Amino acid sequence: MTGPAMGGDPLLSGFENPDDYGFETRAVRAGQPHDPRTGGVVTPIALSTTFAQDAVGEPKFGYEYARTGNPTRHAYEECLASLEGASHGFAFASGLAAEDALLRMLEPGDQVLLGDDAYGGTFRLISKVHGAAGIRHTAVDLTNPDAIRDSWTPETRMVWLETPTNPLLTVIDIDRVADVVHELGGTVVVDNTFATPYLQRPISLGADAVVHSATKYLGGHSDVVGGFVATSDNRIADHLGFVQNAVGAVPGPFDCYLVLRGMKTLAVRMDRHCSNASTIVEVLVEHPRVSHVLYPGLEGHPGHEIAGRQMDGFGGMVSFRLAGGREAAEKVAVSTEVFTLAESLGAVESLIEHPGVMTHASAAGSALEVPDDLIRISVGIESVEDLVADLERALATA
Ligand SMILES: *Cc1c(COP(=O)(O)O)cnc(C)c1O
Repeated sequence: MTGPAMGGDPLLSGFENPDDYGFETRAVRAGQPHDPRTGGVVTPIALSTTFAQDAVGEPKFGYEYARTGNPTRHAYEECLASLEGASHGFAFASGLAAEDALLRMLEPGDQVLLGDDAYGGTFRLISKVHGAAGIRHTAVDLTNPDAIRDSWTPETRMVWLETPTNPLLTVIDIDRVADVVHELGGTVVVDNTFATPYLQRPISLGADAVVHSATKYLGGHSDVVGGFVATSDNRIADHLGFVQNAVGAVPGPFDCYLVLRGMKTLAVRMDRHCSNASTIVEVLVEHPRVSHVLYPGLEGHPGHEIAGRQMDGFGGMVSFRLAGGREAAEKVAVSTEVFTLAESLGAVESLIEHPGVMTHASAAGSALEVPDDLIRISVGIESVEDLVADLERALATA
């Protein structure tokens, strides 16, 4: 093997210094030592719930009980923390379980400011679950970071942002938000699900914690539900380690393995998601049945310049509005063959959905309501000619 020797306990660490390597190398190797007994190059799915101890209270390899720590989960946590440029990573059973763990830092009476088009499940978790525990929230237009000052109260502790957002693909300037929030003494959380660490590393832009729905691009194959928090803040890390063990919303070893496997190809998948999306956007922009195309890669997109600065690519999510209104949007959504009509996003297969009726129905009538002529597509990695032809056929019905 070239590069530094694998150091320390082979079960506990991967590369001695993962930071010496590029993103793609870390995605394949960080936290993933060869199997010390067999030389196997793939991290084993460790099913043991308990681990032998050499003496009372002295576990052989640092593992005691699998809720607290599991070797497959450990490999996944090291790998994704490294990809996010974070010193700590914590895996959870779903994106929402990861968010819940972070939100448990708040105390009754505390306030969270969240972007006014946050993921619906995040909004529900903050407003209904943590709201019932006394946490208050206010939705803010984070495209204007000065709006944070206007909404700030002595009880405000945290600003929760997504960029790009779902499904309107609004871009938020992480660096500017972090400057304002840190000046006011708060914590910045970035949901990096849409961009992934391949395209955007919020911690390097000032975020205190990064959350993921690993169900999307990290897993990448629509076959695992998972969540993650990465942070370089020791206080947040201590809290997360405590909650992960004390609450126990942890992923099973097979789920950890699936995300670990997905992340190995994250870079090549994202390159294809981005290039396929950009080809499709060129077609949609010219299409007479399409009234607006929402994609940060478009020069006319209000967040284009910020996205160009803080992202290494514009991503695989595209939304567009139909000139023919809601009826036309519903026709397009049911007329594709390569794009599957389904919720979720971020996997190898292309998906299409109507957010107003599907993923964002619960936002109807609220500040988070989306236009009813809107279609969202998650562009997969299939042959781009097939994707374009499929959309053109479906648009002809609108
Ligand atoms: C899906 C999603 C979540 C929730 O994650 P789950 O894994 O479904 O719990 C959170 N944020 C964003 C942006 C998402 O797309």
